[in-house]
Amino acid sequence: MCLFCKIVAGTIPATVVAKSTHSLAFRDIEPQAPTHVLVIPRRHVGNVADLAHDPQELADLFRLAGQVAEDEGLDRGYRMVANTGSLGGQVVFHAHVHVLGGRRMQWPPG
Ligand code: AMP
Ligand code: ZN
Repeated sequence: MCLFCKIVAGTIPATVVAKSTHSLAFRDIEPQAPTHVLVIPRRHVGNVADLAHDPQELADLFRLAGQVAEDEGLDRGYRMVANTGSLGGQVVFHAHVHVLGGRRMQWPPG
């Protein structure tokens, strides 16, 4: 079972901030901003592009990400990131979106 599947199963602890039918949101263990939450599908799928094969799950994940941003008070803006593949900086190969906020984001992202 992959790391994030273990978090879904509850065998690895995480600070869960929100849940929906198909998705789970929890705080990143190494936060890169005052708010840094990961939003993942409960079902194991390798990346967000693969998740797009199921529009319901994809919409559910983005809806939950938006809800997290609202709950965290990020009304002045935030960033959503989906690192994809090793060159994209993905290290956990269970689809996830980072919700980062609480500070001004830089561009280009590096
Ligand atoms: P990525 O580089 O996009 O694959 O992001 C993986 C993220 O998972 C990183 O930001 C890590 O800090 C985070 N992470 C790794 N292990 C845990 C964990 N046990 N609980 C919460 N976040 C984690
Ligand atoms: Zn998984």
